[in-house]
Amino acid sequence: MALKIYNYLSRKMERFRPVNDGRVHMYVCGPTVYDHSHLGHAKTYVAMDVVVRYFKYRGYQVRYVRNLTDVGHLLDSGEDRITKGARRDRIEPMEVVDTYIKSFHDDMDTLGVLRPSISPRATCHIPEIIKWVQGLLDWGYAYESEGNVYFSIEKFPEYGKLANRKLDDLEAGARVDVREEKHHPSDFALWKRAEPEHIMRWDSPWGEGYPGWHIECSVMATKYLGQPFDIHGGGLENIFPHNECEIAQAESYHQGVPFANYWILVGSLTVNGMKMSKSLGNSLTIQDALKLYSPEALRYFILSSHYRGPIDFSRDALQAAQRGMNRMLNTVQKLRFRMDDALPAGTAILAQVAALEDYREDFNAALDDDFNTPQALATLFEFTREVNRQLDENDDISMGTLSAMDKIFRDLAGTVLGILPENLEERLGGALVGKLVDTLVELREEYRASREWSKADTIRSRLNEMGIVLEDSPEGTTWRLK
Ligand SMILES: [Zn+2]
Repeated sequence: MALKIYNYLSRKMERFRPVNDGRVHMYVCGPTVYDHSHLGHAKTYVAMDVVVRYFKYRGYQVRYVRNLTDVGHLLDSGEDRITKGARRDRIEPMEVVDTYIKSFHDDMDTLGVLRPSISPRATCHIPEIIKWVQGLLDWGYAYESEGNVYFSIEKFPEYGKLANRKLDDLEAGARVDVREEKHHPSDFALWKRAEPEHIMRWDSPWGEGYPGWHIECSVMATKYLGQPFDIHGGGLENIFPHNECEIAQAESYHQGVPFANYWILVGSLTVNGMKMSKSLGNSLTIQDALKLYSPEALRYFILSSHYRGPIDFSRDALQAAQRGMNRMLNTVQKLRFRMDDALPAGTAILAQVAALEDYREDFNAALDDDFNTPQALATLFEFTREVNRQLDENDDISMGTLSAMDKIFRDLAGTVLGILPENLEERLGGALVGKLVDTLVELREEYRASREWSKADTIRSRLNEMGIVLEDSPEGTTWRLK
């Protein structure tokens, strides 16, 4: 089956055709590193991570570029976000940058988000940026005004094609705060004059200054990925003006060559039904959330709704995600215990394995359909139920069949969705601990048989404190993790 992507540029489902066979070149707008990352970042980068993981799993060679904005992204007040961080933390701007790059990487590593192939920084590409700004000036797409260089959107008639906005509407909407030095109210800065108090500044043909926010993405994406490249991703909140400006700059600089062929934009995250914002006091950092929930549960929660749509973070939703995760992890653990006990020479029974592989096909079909992770998770849970059923009903499943089951879990839940911890045995206590729990359960059975109830209850309650639940039934006692 062919992989289809909902392309924001055409607002249609389109079959994925890479620029180069077998390769995917992909760019995603990264964070501005002046503060800890919040849950909105988690949603965007986990969603894009599954896109990357799926392409790799399907055999593509992926070059994934995700930038780090370390200059030029201004607040509405006109202050550079990095400068704001420096003032707040009373440290150098580049100390701010390094502090929050580390924080961002730590968060992403914990969430199982694979590191990109390249994480370019704006401040490391100032010469390239100056070259682009000069080129856009030379070819008449930009103009200089008192040390600032602006892109003239009237020179790029397609401006607005990604966000579906018309030039005329833009003018009407923005006329109120038209700045004298701009020709059109929506013209945007490629290069900004550095005021005396601005710390980050570089020499340029237009005096000391620093780049505007949008230009870094056009420059760095095409430097490492070529033009056109395959996929541009990011949060939907950046579609306008940021992504629109990226297109205008790159397609003007490269004389009409398309910038990116497919645009994948990720919907927003709300908290208890409200937009997350610092002023509302409901802004939740990834680190806050990880104090309450496991990284796999957070990923599972994010992937349980389609990436394009919004998702609402609430305690109930996260607890449901945690329960779902535990169900699957318990089954994987049970399966691996059985593998420890299975006879070594058992071969896979072909009919059984073929039936299991149907689940993999359904899973792939879901992700081929614009990375439909909720559907993929539903298939994974059908598979989990099937494995459970077979483990319960069938005492002599061969080692080969058990390994085939485990491989499907590793591939789908592990490699593609990133929700199967690699150190599951460690996390769940390992095979040795499993055997120790079995021994305690047997001991408790003996106490029960000899009516030594208080000793039997002590074992149960001590195990319960450790998160291990015993379940008694006429066939005997089984145990599972809470
Ligand atoms: Zn960007």
